[in-house]
Amino acid sequence: MTHDPHERGEGEVCASVAGLPPLPSVGLTGGSPLEGSGDFSIGGALWPGVSKLIEEAGEVIQVAGKLLGSRGVEVHWDGSNLRERLEEEIADLLAACVFVVEENGLDRDAIDGRAERKLALFQGWQRPKTEERA
Ligand SMILES: [Mg+2]
Repeated sequence: MTHDPHERGEGEVCASVAGLPPLPSVGLTGGSPLEGSGDFSIGGALWPGVSKLIEEAGEVIQVAGKLLGSRGVEVHWDGSNLRERLEEEIADLLAACVFVVEENGLDRDAIDGRAERKLALFQGWQRPKTEERA
């Protein structure tokens, strides 16, 4: 699908769904800085979902930081459970990853293959340490 990202103001549609005023475009696609194309956002024409990917990755980092700060204690001082929050944010990040892959035509087979190799590497690092502690 090809279209002019400034033609319909997708950013305004996306923002109105969330009940927010439209964000001004920074003009990265060459249009007026106030047209609001929604670039990098879900619903945008340029790299849709990338801003959500960044947001969700940041939320995983935030919860992981809280786990470090609590020395691994899962009950945070604010009363939330950090294990549950980490599960939720990882789920959000996985969804954002799949969305970006699908909506931007990235090579899913190449990504899956690399992910499998990377997982095997990580597991290879973990296994001897787990066995040492057993
Ligand atoms: Mg989230």
